[in-house]
Amino acid sequence: MSLPSHNNDRFVLVTEVGTRDGFQAEKQFVPTEIKAKAINAMIDAGVTSVEATSFVSPRAVPQMADASEVMALIERKPGVRLTALVPNARGAERAAAAKVDMMAAFVSVSDTHCRTNLNKTRAQALADFTEFAPIAQQYGIALRGGIATAFGCPFEGEVSLDHLLTVVETYMRAGALHIGLGDTTGMATPPVVTRSVEAIRKRFPEAIIALHFHNTRGIGLANVMNGLDLGVREFESSIGGLGGCPFAPGATGNICTEDLVYLLHECGYQTGIDLDALAAVANDIQGVIGRELPGQYMKAGARLKLSSLESVRRAVG
Ligand code: ZN
Repeated sequence: MSLPSHNNDRFVLVTEVGTRDGFQAEKQFVPTEIKAKAINAMIDAGVTSVEATSFVSPRAVPQMADASEVMALIERKPGVRLTALVPNARGAERAAAAKVDMMAAFVSVSDTHCRTNLNKTRAQALADFTEFAPIAQQYGIALRGGIATAFGCPFEGEVSLDHLLTVVETYMRAGALHIGLGDTTGMATPPVVTRSVEAIRKRFPEAIIALHFHNTRGIGLANVMNGLDLGVREFESSIGGLGGCPFAPGATGNICTEDLVYLLHECGYQTGIDLDALAAVANDIQGVIGRELPGQYMKAGARLKLSSLESVRRAVG
């Protein structure tokens, strides 16, 4: 299939991660049909890149045990890229059987986070990747190298640029030109992002970088603006802002897709997404989840949506 690629500097690819990164954080099992329905509705609203699910061990992550079933219920459309997380060769075989368009590996720059989160060292995670990369290639499936704690680690503090570049190098050598930098615990700031993106570009100019920000400390979209200035044209976000920050209870996690799309459109970028249709999907998902989601656009609506005088309470300040 042709992957979403646009020779237009004003086009930004928005990768929706809510049904993976968001739902994975939910304690209650989200029914398979609801997951697939959410993905189908987002694709109908114009989303062309979805991190749909994860082929991790069902015992380790029961919420993702239905990965194959979710994939089977998605109505495939040309030009829409479906990605799934893959931890090892067994996951790669399952993902290939489910006909994913892209397999996403994931490794933490921080060894401590890798051991805590993935139960393996960084070296082991990279070894698992090099073992399954040929499986993706054998099936003609694109590879993405996901990097967790790319901008800081709650256990180790600043992460080393050398370690970051080692992970990127392993990915690039195995043919994963798509590199996703994840702000897993919301520690990114514009200078940290600039430093990391520039270091990667200097060593690996052919890397296609995507940025995955969290809004844990309230500057997720400021980091996006900085990424746009750096020339990055792919961002990952979550519908309604689904998903929490595992190391900051109560703090928000992923940046919200509708808020991101609102910002991009207001700044003259194109996404191909119908924002109000997407906000309607976010509202539906909020109903299913049964608690208020952090998304702002879904509550406030369009900037030039006019209100009647009677409907607005007088606000002071
Ligand atoms: Zn995330």
